[in-house]
Amino acid sequence: MPAAEFQDRDAVVVGSGPNGLSAAITLARAGCAVTVVEAADSLGGGSRSAELTLPGYVHDVCSTVHALALASPALAALPLAEHGLELVQPDVPLAHPLDDGSAAVLYRSVTETAARLGGRDGRSYERLLGPLVEHSDGLMREVLGPLRPPLHPVTMARFGLVGLRSAIGLGRSRFDGPEGPALIAGSAAHSIMRLDQMPTAAVGLVLMTTAHAVGWPFARGGSQRVVDAMTSYLRSLGGVTVTGRRVESIDELDGAAAVLLDVTPRQLLSIAGDRLRGGYRRGLRRYRYSPGVFKVDWALDGPIPWRAEEARRAGTVHLGGTAEELARSEDDANRGRIPEHPFVLLTQPTVHDPSRAPEGKHVGWAYCHVPHGCPEDMTERIEAQVERFAPGFRDLVLGRSSLSAPEMEAYNANYVGGDISGGTQDLRQLFTRPTVRPNPYTTSDPRLFLCSSSTPPGGGVHGMSGYFAAKAALRGVLKHTATRTGG
Ligand SMILES: Cc1cc2nc3c(=O)[nH]c(=O)nc-3n(C[C@H](O)[C@H](O)[C@H](O)COP(=O)(O)OP(=O)(O)OC[C@H]3O[C@@H](n4cnc5c(N)ncnc54)[C@H](O)[C@@H]3O)c2cc1C
Repeated sequence: MPAAEFQDRDAVVVGSGPNGLSAAITLARAGCAVTVVEAADSLGGGSRSAELTLPGYVHDVCSTVHALALASPALAALPLAEHGLELVQPDVPLAHPLDDGSAAVLYRSVTETAARLGGRDGRSYERLLGPLVEHSDGLMREVLGPLRPPLHPVTMARFGLVGLRSAIGLGRSRFDGPEGPALIAGSAAHSIMRLDQMPTAAVGLVLMTTAHAVGWPFARGGSQRVVDAMTSYLRSLGGVTVTGRRVESIDELDGAAAVLLDVTPRQLLSIAGDRLRGGYRRGLRRYRYSPGVFKVDWALDGPIPWRAEEARRAGTVHLGGTAEELARSEDDANRGRIPEHPFVLLTQPTVHDPSRAPEGKHVGWAYCHVPHGCPEDMTERIEAQVERFAPGFRDLVLGRSSLSAPEMEAYNANYVGGDISGGTQDLRQLFTRPTVRPNPYTTSDPRLFLCSSSTPPGGGVHGMSGYFAAKAALRGVLKHTATRTGG
């Protein structure tokens, strides 16, 4: 590989996930010449779609619900609608069926959600979520970024008081019935942590706040459209993309003034370890990864026949029963045991976006958490949970695709052991990812930056890690480039 290949580039971004593309866009907007180099044959990392089952059925391989994209100051500022992105909003963001045929339901409106809970639980819900939703803009700006002095101290103090608790503790203390705790536990379980651990309540509350404030939308046509719009915008700014090229060593990128890596610490060590200082390297080696996921996609002959009417209208359905049952499942996955009755996150995009399947047909998307790197096939266990709340579901399955945790890692090297969050997001590692450092997007080499979900604010399609990493590069090694171009 000739070392001069990237000589004319101000920056090379390794990896085209939402964070890599967000970094490239931020740099290109500042006038930098940027190339994105992607290992896979298509761009987009964790936001791609594919016909995984049968022809004509479009499945989201990884991300599917784009609340964080809407809540993200970085992505919301981009003209993605002009580049083809259309979001579809389910009027019921979340349903959580229970064994008696009822369901806990989160509507767009806090008042409507509280009214369904009724009585003391309804009032409790309104007191808990109302102020967070009212100040959601400030809250999202605080939580979707690195640790820094709060810009909205009152909102953050109010959030901290409840968010620092465990999801199970918060649910028990605020509600009498099973519905409120189930909504909190299911949303908190996206953290891939044990639900009796602090601060799982924070994860649940942030996601529930987004559901009320901006909704839990799908991208019409599939998640691929999010990154297609980002790529189209990047190209309109002069950015260049290369696919099918895995970067093995930083030596391949000599010539570019700055390199931003949309990879996790393990790959950073392998690609550029010899360029990094000992202390920083040791910090990266201590970085912890979480349990993995097992993913199933279905081509379906009709909509999922949920017993609970409201679940039929929902975009996302959380399966597994009560908060306590969910806690057992997440406890198992975190302690290296295979959950027999896993907590299942399921979405039904075609109820809201029929363009993804032939007329009258549907797709289903689901995953559960499994121990780190676990190769177990969870298809049966996941389908048993769907059948539990939607008898007759299995008869609708026309085709299915399953991906185990090791297969997820083979699909995208960033999913180490099947961990989809780029590393554990507990209290110790959420804001100090990848290691304790005043600016977590910088590395010990002034030319190298980390821009993946292994930096704050962690997992999700929000592009904030890429945005902050690009800003760090523009303040650092690209300072004169940005000044030259007026960026
Ligand atoms: C099953 C599943 C469901 C999810 N659901 C949601 C959801 O509904 N909503 C949501 O917001 N988030 C969801 N996520 C999480 C979300 O997809 C990720 O957090 C997000 O994609 C992280 O973006 P990123 O840019 O940091 O990394 P990634 O999207 O992982 O992109 C990294 C890119 O870098 C490339 N790469 C890695 N190493 C190299 C190399 N050496 N050379 C070149 N290229 C390289 C990879 O091929 C990949 O394309 C889900 C993830 C999974 C797996």
